[in-house]
Amino acid sequence: MTLNELDLKTEYLSLDSEFYDLTDPTPLDDPYLISFNPKAAELIGLDSNSADDPRFVALLNGTFIPKGVRPFSMCYAGHQFGHYAPRLGDGRAVNLGSINGWHLQTKGSGETRYSRMADGRAALPSSIREYLMSEAMHHLGIPTTRALGIIGSETKIVRNQIERGAIVMRMSPSWVRFGTFEYFYYFKEYDKLRSLADYAIKESYPHLQKDEDRYYRFFCEVVERTAKLIAQWQGVGFSHGVMNTDNMSIAGLTIDYGPYAMLDDFNFGFVSNKSDRAGRYSYGDQPNVSYWNLTMLAKALSPLIDQERMQKKLDDYGNFLYPDAYIDVMREKLGLETKLEEDAELITSLVGALQDAYVDYTNFFRTLSRYDGERMPLYDIAMNPLVIHHWLDQYDQRLAKESRLQTERQEAMLKRNPKYVLKNYMLQDAITLAKKGDFSMVETLLYIASHPFDELPEFERFAKETPEEHKNLTLSCSS
Ligand code: AMP
Ligand code: MG
Repeated sequence: MTLNELDLKTEYLSLDSEFYDLTDPTPLDDPYLISFNPKAAELIGLDSNSADDPRFVALLNGTFIPKGVRPFSMCYAGHQFGHYAPRLGDGRAVNLGSINGWHLQTKGSGETRYSRMADGRAALPSSIREYLMSEAMHHLGIPTTRALGIIGSETKIVRNQIERGAIVMRMSPSWVRFGTFEYFYYFKEYDKLRSLADYAIKESYPHLQKDEDRYYRFFCEVVERTAKLIAQWQGVGFSHGVMNTDNMSIAGLTIDYGPYAMLDDFNFGFVSNKSDRAGRYSYGDQPNVSYWNLTMLAKALSPLIDQERMQKKLDDYGNFLYPDAYIDVMREKLGLETKLEEDAELITSLVGALQDAYVDYTNFFRTLSRYDGERMPLYDIAMNPLVIHHWLDQYDQRLAKESRLQTERQEAMLKRNPKYVLKNYMLQDAITLAKKGDFSMVETLLYIASHPFDELPEFERFAKETPEEHKNLTLSCSS
């Protein structure tokens, strides 16, 4: 399919007009292509040579609107750092419609009805970060939005310093957020709340459409998907940075990449968001915060669903849904095929050991994936190998209870423990070059992001421990 043949559906516009605002994108000046993502293009059946078509840049910039499309921005609310904000919404994103179940949206397309005091723009650095990381998460096997392409421009925007405006075209199976439900709950518009629940069920939980108890079941499945998602974040060492309820997907996806980070040395208390002084969204607190966010969702759904039943499900989240999901993720990382009661303890003591070892989280598991009883490679990568040593005693005992061959375990672990993750310092390098008009590193990182489990000898340097001076790079919300 060529760009001319793009046929986008806008079912969301059949909802009440309060759900959205028709919004014309405001183009950037002198736009240029930074990167096109053929893997995302494939998902929507777009020809891979579309990048060469000048209409591609125009599509992202909002100067080429496919026929039949009425661009719109969506309303939502949300708890931001614990405080309720009744009117957020797409302040800088414009939706074009969906194809093959993917809703296309440009981020940074100018002011909308929901922009409040802000400029509706997205800076080049954060746009590159979102473009690359959403792709990386997908290839790590974590549910996420995707990105079709990114453009830069000469438009100046004011952040901590003067930046250039950019636009990422994001794609998602759903853009409905916990905060979308909160919006209608707090304005006591319960009919619209119900329409939204019906819409979200049709969009993301279609198997529940005919279920008599569908609202309750829907809530249960959101809780379950969220448990799995957060367990995967914890497993891979991803810190989201801004887990406000407006950044929580009702479909259980990773959305809205801002000041995120992949852990360098393991640190339970790591806070990736410089603006988060209290550490509300630290890496280690993500499971607790997602529970809190789910309780806010339950409150918003209370006009539709019995609160006690929801509370019971929330209790399950804390008691076993999240813990079990996390243990399952970690079991796979540890190459354990059988499920034993004692695994929870092994994992808890590993987390404690990693905290004390000063060891690169990604490297630790990749190195462990080749473990054959020889401990030196693991001691070599830790500043405090003694704690690793004690933990390995436990691990050896546990491995003795496994029946599969060591080589099989290693093979399975190499498919679960990435060699490459996008650390902030790498992204920073790509951004510095991109600001000079050199997009080669964006392409390199896109390639690496798409092959996290492969051996890529030409990119070996990116698999090393983060250089000391670049560890724990944090970003602020506004970057
Ligand atoms: P975020 O933390 O990026 O998810 O954004 C939180 C809210 O602020 C959302 O409603 C965004 O649309 C809005 N927002 C963030 N940056 C801008 C901006 N530059 N212009 C307009 N709205 C923005
Ligand atoms: Mg957001």
